[in-house]
Amino acid sequence: MLNFTVGPVMSDDAVLAIGSQQVPYFRTPEFSEVMLENERLMLRFAGAPAGSRACFMTGSGTASMEASVMNVLSPQDKAIVVNGGSFGERFVQLLQLHGIPCHEIKLDYGQPLTEGHLSGLAGKGFTAFLVNMGETSTGVLYDMPMIGRFCRDNGLLLVVDAISTFLCDAFDMKALGADVMITGSQKALACPPGISVIVLSPRALQRVESHQSVSMYLDLKLALKNGERGQTPFTPAVGTLLQINRRLHDIDAAGGVESEVARMSMLARDFRQKVSVLPFTLFSPSPQNGVTALLTTKVPAYDIFTTLKDKYGIWICPNGGELRDRVFRVGHMGALTPADNTTLVDAMLDMLGRG
Ligand SMILES: *Cc1c(COP(=O)(O)O)cnc(C)c1O
Repeated sequence: MLNFTVGPVMSDDAVLAIGSQQVPYFRTPEFSEVMLENERLMLRFAGAPAGSRACFMTGSGTASMEASVMNVLSPQDKAIVVNGGSFGERFVQLLQLHGIPCHEIKLDYGQPLTEGHLSGLAGKGFTAFLVNMGETSTGVLYDMPMIGRFCRDNGLLLVVDAISTFLCDAFDMKALGADVMITGSQKALACPPGISVIVLSPRALQRVESHQSVSMYLDLKLALKNGERGQTPFTPAVGTLLQINRRLHDIDAAGGVESEVARMSMLARDFRQKVSVLPFTLFSPSPQNGVTALLTTKVPAYDIFTTLKDKYGIWICPNGGELRDRVFRVGHMGALTPADNTTLVDAMLDMLGRG
């Protein structure tokens, strides 16, 4: 199997080897040590400001999106949310579900966020800004420095869903002034699904402390308290946490987050250059490194996905809804190489050659 989807993605051999072992009991000093180290490395890789904390939640990325909305925000807030696709839409739904007033910046699929979208929103009493740094459904990378400036100028709390950009695109919580960063195990961490991570700035931590949680499983106060001794309130996805530990170590040993971002950028550029001989165009003018969304006008996008899967054993990512027949996505996260890109482009050439 050759997997170019946007998650779960392919794991390297070291991570796979851990997955083949028995899962250990976890209320031990040894597991606590692993967890404390996971937290230290996550804080460092996120560029978190001093006094920040990281929570490891058992649940996919959406669990941490919901935990962030529930524990950091409240109905007294007034949020701005960028909605450029299905993940932006998810933030809107979560805010509505939890009774948090929000103003939606609705973007056409694939379009970047510009100063023009923000300028009219200054001085309107907003308190928080939520954005998916990469809108994975269309492959758009938003202009984070611009968003960070807007939030700083207007005193807004900044919540960043970096689920598909962490380790792929440069991100520094402290430099951006971000208060919450969310990621998940099955994206660029290239581990099995099951764990998501929330990094909280001191300002976000203060909010968590002062709010009463209405969920037991997603109570961040409880998670933070247990995390002080390297534990979790309930049985976590222990195996995945051990795999994350190995992966964070290996990234650190290979030059840290900058090297990993450079590797992802190289893979994305390599693929975009190789695919340029085919009748597809980049869907977004500001693509993220973790995924390339391509527009196809001659061959229906969904058929490309099906044919590659059934005839070539290669998985790319289809789109749903109104983009189903026009857009497909090729992920670059996980244990992929430039040679794998060549294999994919050759398969596409062969497929188109056969009609
Ligand atoms: C994958 C992803 C999510 C979370 O999806 P889950 O299926 O809950 O893990 C959220 N936001 C973005 C931008 C994503 O890419």
